[in-house]
Amino acid sequence: MPNNSKFATIRVRSAPSPTGRPHIGTAYNALFNYAFARKHGGRFILRIEDTDRTRYVPEAEVEIFEALRWLGLEPDESPENGGEYGPYRQSERLEIYKKYAQELINTGAAYYCFCSKERLEEVRQKCSQEKQPPMYDSHCRKLDPREAKDRAKGGESYVIRLKVPQEGVTRFTDLVRGEIAVENRCIDDQVLLKSDGFPTYHLANVVDDHLMEISHIIRGEEWLPSVPKHILLYNAFGWKPPIYAHTPLLRGKDKSKLGKRHGALPALDYREQGFLPKAVLNYLAQLGWTHPEEKDLFDLSEMIKKFELADINTTAPVFDAEKLTWLNGKWIRSLSTERLAEKVKMWLEYKPTSRHPEEAVATEGSQGDSSPPKADQNDGKTTDLLGLVPLIQKRMKTLADFEPMTDFFFGAPEINSELLTQKGQTKEGIKKMLETAMEIINQIGVGDRDQLESKFRAKAAENSWKMGELCMAVRVAITGKTVSPPLFESLAILEKSEVLKRLRTAVEYL
Ligand code: GLU
Repeated sequence: MPNNSKFATIRVRSAPSPTGRPHIGTAYNALFNYAFARKHGGRFILRIEDTDRTRYVPEAEVEIFEALRWLGLEPDESPENGGEYGPYRQSERLEIYKKYAQELINTGAAYYCFCSKERLEEVRQKCSQEKQPPMYDSHCRKLDPREAKDRAKGGESYVIRLKVPQEGVTRFTDLVRGEIAVENRCIDDQVLLKSDGFPTYHLANVVDDHLMEISHIIRGEEWLPSVPKHILLYNAFGWKPPIYAHTPLLRGKDKSKLGKRHGALPALDYREQGFLPKAVLNYLAQLGWTHPEEKDLFDLSEMIKKFELADINTTAPVFDAEKLTWLNGKWIRSLSTERLAEKVKMWLEYKPTSRHPEEAVATEGSQGDSSPPKADQNDGKTTDLLGLVPLIQKRMKTLADFEPMTDFFFGAPEINSELLTQKGQTKEGIKKMLETAMEIINQIGVGDRDQLESKFRAKAAENSWKMGELCMAVRVAITGKTVSPPLFESLAILEKSEVLKRLRTAVEYL
């Protein structure tokens, strides 16, 4: 154990419970802790609070590690990375909690409680009849400590409870919420050690924060009501409590606690949906904190420089999935073509793991290849990802947009005569337009986009078509869509023979 230099260095932690897939709120909490630690040259610790075995989900822990890694919020100390203060998984620290609970028994700060479930239920009902908050009536507090010890040793089932002072006030300062005072008579004689020998959240959390020399606790305000209990525990041990900063809860647009119905996803689903970690972090940062220059777009290193705990917003931040998507688009546009092509490539490579096996096989060839992947076209030619990215970069909001926006480069679309003849066009009219386009392309090819455009313009004028109508007919025949990357650039990438083939197919179909 390192020497007790309590709070000489900033040490903060995220302490998620692996009870389900880590939510975007887990990432939010990790971000603020991480930024604070980095800002002050401190340490960011990940502790897994897995003592509630009834709610334990084994995969959740791995996903917590993975989500933090994806976001670039690597802990300095964690179950994976180890560290001087480990183990960092509470289920591996059970003996420690027992020892400390016992210490409180020995000093008289805690007591054995033998009340049966039935008795506790009666007490609870009585409280509810009297319209009082459910509180233990301190029945076993009056037992003779020696007698109680003998009963416990004799094998009787017990829990250990804290002797909460029955008078006075517990006060603390929260860096976000300010001064808080709670009357001790409103605080329950909380259970510290359960009858199965597992600690409660309160005991394990306090013991670990102390032993791990946590200097600041930055967490969601749903934990604020626990603080007085924790302060009393720190007092009972004779320890100095850390500094608290409770961040407002993330909410949905209807102001209720953020959940799936608000479009908030487990953190790693954002990776799957083609979000950039930078954008997710940027958005989460904005939710809880305002950049001093009110900038929208900033990265983690900039946040670290400018972030102050005292500047955490006190109003409940509203999570807006559309805003996050918009910000992601902004980040996508800020990337160089090469960088975006790399990201798209990584995303395409990553994707197969979450797809159906047959789809995974189709892109297997690109695994481990550092150059942008070549995708096979129908006629065996290949298209360079780097060539496609600039065509769609402006319109991409997520990396996942790449596939639907560029699928026509990788295979001819289905002919859709309804799309072709929309807006009052006749089959004959469209056929004529497509044949005209074929003539032009036959003559001059698709390599010179400016020449191609002026030819199209001239022919449109000659036939009294609007340029837009002619281009739309060609676009639908070539891409199968009414919205596509820039037409002439796309034709150049597809090359003359493929373009002519698709136009011919459409004409024949009509
Ligand atoms: N295990 C608690 C959670 O799941 C940690 C609360 C805390 O940070 O103290 O959020």
